[in-house]
Amino acid sequence: MNEINRSSPVHPFLDGKPKRMLIDGKWLEAASGKTFETINPATGEVLARVAEGDAEDVDRAVEAARRAFNGPWSRAKPFERQSLLLKLADLVERHFDELAALDTLDMGAPISRTRGSRLRALGMLRYYAGQAVSIHGETIENSLPGEYASFTLKEPVGVVGAIIPWNGPLTATIWKIGPALATGCTVVLKPAEEAPLTPLRLAELCQEAGVPPGVVNVVPGYGETAGAALAAHRGVDKVAFTGSHLTGQKIIQASAGNLKRVSLELGGKSPDVVFADADLDAAVPGAGMAVFANSGQICSAGTRLFVERKIYEEFAARVAAYGKSLRVGDGLDPNTQVGPLVSAEQLDRVTGYLAIGRQEGARPLSGGERLTEGDMARGYFVPPTVFADVRDDMRIAQEEIFGPVISAIPFDDIEEVITRANATSFGLGSGLWTRDVSKAHKLARAIRAGSVWINCYQAMDPAVPFGGYKMSGYGRESGKQHVEEYLNVKSVWIRTD
Ligand code: ADP
Repeated sequence: MNEINRSSPVHPFLDGKPKRMLIDGKWLEAASGKTFETINPATGEVLARVAEGDAEDVDRAVEAARRAFNGPWSRAKPFERQSLLLKLADLVERHFDELAALDTLDMGAPISRTRGSRLRALGMLRYYAGQAVSIHGETIENSLPGEYASFTLKEPVGVVGAIIPWNGPLTATIWKIGPALATGCTVVLKPAEEAPLTPLRLAELCQEAGVPPGVVNVVPGYGETAGAALAAHRGVDKVAFTGSHLTGQKIIQASAGNLKRVSLELGGKSPDVVFADADLDAAVPGAGMAVFANSGQICSAGTRLFVERKIYEEFAARVAAYGKSLRVGDGLDPNTQVGPLVSAEQLDRVTGYLAIGRQEGARPLSGGERLTEGDMARGYFVPPTVFADVRDDMRIAQEEIFGPVISAIPFDDIEEVITRANATSFGLGSGLWTRDVSKAHKLARAIRAGSVWINCYQAMDPAVPFGGYKMSGYGRESGKQHVEEYLNVKSVWIRTD
């Protein structure tokens, strides 16, 4: 594998050497010897070459994960798994700035954002550490004639295939390996091809923390090859997937061979509803960052902005002005508030939707075009965009864009906005802004989505479940429900008379 020549290293992990995959505690090249490049989306520069795993590597990794599962690991005491997670949390804390910078380099998010995920990343590891010692079955009274005792045991599901996206590599990796380590599962994780570096660095830290060989394996590669092989593998007991709904559908099909368990955290087209009685000074940046954060590359972004008609023009204009005030640039610049999109492909997709929006008759109040001035031309920059005059049937109001694009839509009354907010095949996030507690309660119950944020957006906590309704997927991440996704329930009967 060739080294990359760079005049000055930009990050300690980027030493010019190709990155290998972690299988059975060893850092290996791909069986095919192939590598792929991972690119800095702010500059178009190659950051590293990475081993390109395919079905053969997935086989090796699943075998290693099975051996590890059949070994002492799945019988490790809860305290051992807890202390491993706590050690990993301490290592992640010590190396946090380095990990955050790697996320920024590999997928573009502003450093203020990746560093800002500190509380959540560490909180997740420490939360799962707590969960490791809280797993328990139940003693259940039964009505059989004769004397029987009946109780349940919770057991780790087995080998987990984790397939993650690129929009938050560090937290996405922790979100998969945290519950696996808490429950005694083993994992084969396939990072997204756009951003494999942080998961690989985190795998090094897992080793340093003392995670036994084969318990966490990381196989970078493409979705159609490595990802598909993992989803279909008969040695995998559960797939934990985060990504697009189209890939989610393929995962379900691929999983059918051995009827493996599947949890899916998919896309969205989330409504964010602003009533005229809201604290508009808070709602303007709130509704703006519900979409502009991470350049809109968040599955629960509040992209359908429903605004009560009497404040529609003014509010949409204020959100557009707020968008214009945000600094777009290289994520490594601490002043940057909106970074580039992750890849040239994503840029094409988002600019394609900008064109579709105009053709459909939507009126751009801000943004609307790719930025190409100066250094921007090298990267994949799209500024915060607000489209006004959007109708519900437009593609920009129905399809997930995954870019910093708000579709602002007027509404007249609460019943109408409930119907229209729910008129989507997705159901991941939702927001509403009001000072009226009755309206807030009514919408919180009526909106068919996994999360409802009232007078805020995107609040997340390791203890609070997150996941989708409808085509946004099933299963929950975070919270006790997440740990259950990694456990089987076994019923035990004992005849005692
Ligand atoms: P996005 O559009 O956000 O990149 P994807 O669903 O394409 O979302 O990708 C999310 C993850 O799914 C990535 O790790 C990708 O490599 C993987 N992936 C893509 N296609 C497949 C597939 N057919 N089978 C399994 N994994 C896949």
